[in-house]
Amino acid sequence: MTGLPLDQIPVDKLSGVGPKIQARLADLGIESVQDLLFHLPFRYEDRTRVTPIGRAAVGDCVQVQGKIVDSGVETGRRGRSLRCLLRDDSGMLSIRFYHFNRFQQGKLAAGALVRCFGEVRYGRSGAEMYHPEYRLLAGEDEAVPNTLTPVYSTVDGLHQHRVRGFVGQALVLLAEGEKLPELLPESLLREFGGIDLAESVRLLHEPPPDMELDFTGRGGNSPARQRLAFEELLAHRLCMQRLKRDAGRLPSPRFSIRQELPKRFADSLPFRLTGAQRRAYREIRDDLAGGAPMMRLLQGDVGAGKTVVAALAALLAIESDFQACLMAPTEILAEQHLRNFRRWCEPLGLRLGWLSGKTRGKARDEVLGELESGACDLLIGTHAVFQEPVRFRRLGLIVVDEQHRFGVHQRLALREKAGGALRPHQLVMTATPIPRTLAMSAYADLDCSVIDELPPGRKPANTVVHSQARRGEVIARIAANCAAGRQAYWVCTLIDESETLQAQAAEATAAELGQALAGIRVGLVHGRLKPAEKAEVMDSFQQGRIQLLVATTVIEVGVDVANASLMVIENPERLGLAQLHQLRGRVGRGAEQSHCVLLYQPPLSELSRERLRIIRETHDGFRIAEEDLRLRGPGQVLGTRQTGMMSFRVADIGRDSEMLDQVRDACDELLASHPDVAEPLVRRWIGQSRDFGDV
Ligand code: ADP
Ligand code: MG
Repeated sequence: MTGLPLDQIPVDKLSGVGPKIQARLADLGIESVQDLLFHLPFRYEDRTRVTPIGRAAVGDCVQVQGKIVDSGVETGRRGRSLRCLLRDDSGMLSIRFYHFNRFQQGKLAAGALVRCFGEVRYGRSGAEMYHPEYRLLAGEDEAVPNTLTPVYSTVDGLHQHRVRGFVGQALVLLAEGEKLPELLPESLLREFGGIDLAESVRLLHEPPPDMELDFTGRGGNSPARQRLAFEELLAHRLCMQRLKRDAGRLPSPRFSIRQELPKRFADSLPFRLTGAQRRAYREIRDDLAGGAPMMRLLQGDVGAGKTVVAALAALLAIESDFQACLMAPTEILAEQHLRNFRRWCEPLGLRLGWLSGKTRGKARDEVLGELESGACDLLIGTHAVFQEPVRFRRLGLIVVDEQHRFGVHQRLALREKAGGALRPHQLVMTATPIPRTLAMSAYADLDCSVIDELPPGRKPANTVVHSQARRGEVIARIAANCAAGRQAYWVCTLIDESETLQAQAAEATAAELGQALAGIRVGLVHGRLKPAEKAEVMDSFQQGRIQLLVATTVIEVGVDVANASLMVIENPERLGLAQLHQLRGRVGRGAEQSHCVLLYQPPLSELSRERLRIIRETHDGFRIAEEDLRLRGPGQVLGTRQTGMMSFRVADIGRDSEMLDQVRDACDELLASHPDVAEPLVRRWIGQSRDFGDV
């Protein structure tokens, strides 16, 4: 592998990466060695120092070392555990393992010298560390690392230390001269203190210990991270610019203006469209009749009624003898769309198709066949609609729900599927209001329609903020709510944790609530359930058979149960404001006054308090989005990965929004003076895109 660009070296060339690990890495979006290098740590641990045990305070994450003076198995409330008492010159501390084997027990015997890293807690024997990472030492003065230890986000089946090992190998390749070429011209680099790409990457994975620790979070806000984020934002903007220019070149289908189907559909609805819905539909209709490809973003707060507008657009396509495709980011949401569209479209004699990752065998062959023959008018599904074998006879319109979950490249992949020379129109729906600055950059290729009016009779949820100390009271409130014939949600949040941990937390909560609320039917939904199981739970909730639904944030988008009028969100301080606002939008869909209880874990930081105050006070999605951007400055980290906006690898649209003007100028400058750099930059950050290569 000499001198190969790192984006052309697949990860399985690294030692220790077999097919299984490769699949786990792919789950993280990592396919090449370059991808691995761009997978930045979300925090760091300082293991460059050893803290004297006597100075390790409860709550600190520290590295200590000492001699084991006592070791034995104890039985307590949480079951059997191995406890080892550690001593150094300054004090004593226990390390405790609930999972251990004979071999470990033998090694961790009295007399052994251990170094360990973990959080100090107050336990049965005083200061304790549970399941610390540890190493047996040969001597007291064994060297400590001279850089901070990175912590990466990972998935089940892929240990933190393995990710670290792979990144380590990637950094060695980089040092040996494998290529991560600098693409930015000198003039731009200078603005970031002249740190080149390779150097930035190295710094972010192996920062020197004197880099300040309050910057944690995807490389903090060091110049090295800013430089990478800038390059990524620039690549996105370049891609968008090209797309927009390119978009006008290919003809798109011209849809009928008879509008018979849309009219029949609108008449069949039990409500009248709001003024805002009508305006959005008119804008879309004008695009669709124009012959140039529509690229439109449909923004509207949760519950504003975007789906009906999308349905009208789809009916226009179908009436004009084209097919339409509606894609949602999660199985639950896609299934909900399927139910709605069945109810709406089947009376009109239309043929719907369904495709998710789990559609297999005959069902799958059948839907693929109907798409190719044109028998299927409207396909609804998840990411699976991108898959290779999916071919449409005449795809005329693509609707993507909750766009922020999809990348630009996925939108492109779908566009490729049109069949024929005509380019399908695209409608992108999002409930995450996007501040203007952001829309400029992230969605530069899209026009925008806004539904800024809720259907009549909606009462926004009354939001209160309580500490966990009032948990009992909140549980009693659920009992009262359900006794009155209404339903409730209980949302558990964990961030940067695996789906398994999230599922476990939700299971524990469901068990607790089930016990506390005898006689109330409690259901549970989380990301580890099979789609069929998930659908069954959601269905039961929708039908009222389940009264209280305990859930992880998988219910975040789109789920619609009008009778649910109370939502409790645990640890709301962990989520971004936009995401909280979206969650809260699940209640308040019926005529009843609804309530949202934000149950936080004290103590709250000043910033968290401010954030929760905003959620409590306002229901204006745009204002919330602006505040989110304003508040999440450098240093504030938790929640940034959960903003639910766009998925960038390095850039954080909240923290980096101030860069956007600079990005725009740099984009113009680059296209004027170094146009040849644009294509490799886009390829590096966004991946292969045939559209882009064509231009
Ligand atoms: P979102 O914009 O969040 O996707 P939906 O399209 O799911 O919102 O609509 C939310 C609910 O409001 C649905 O039950 C839908 O049938 C209903 N709805 C949509 N438009 C109207 C309207 N004009 N009047 C009353 N109810 C409406
Ligand atoms: Mg929706």
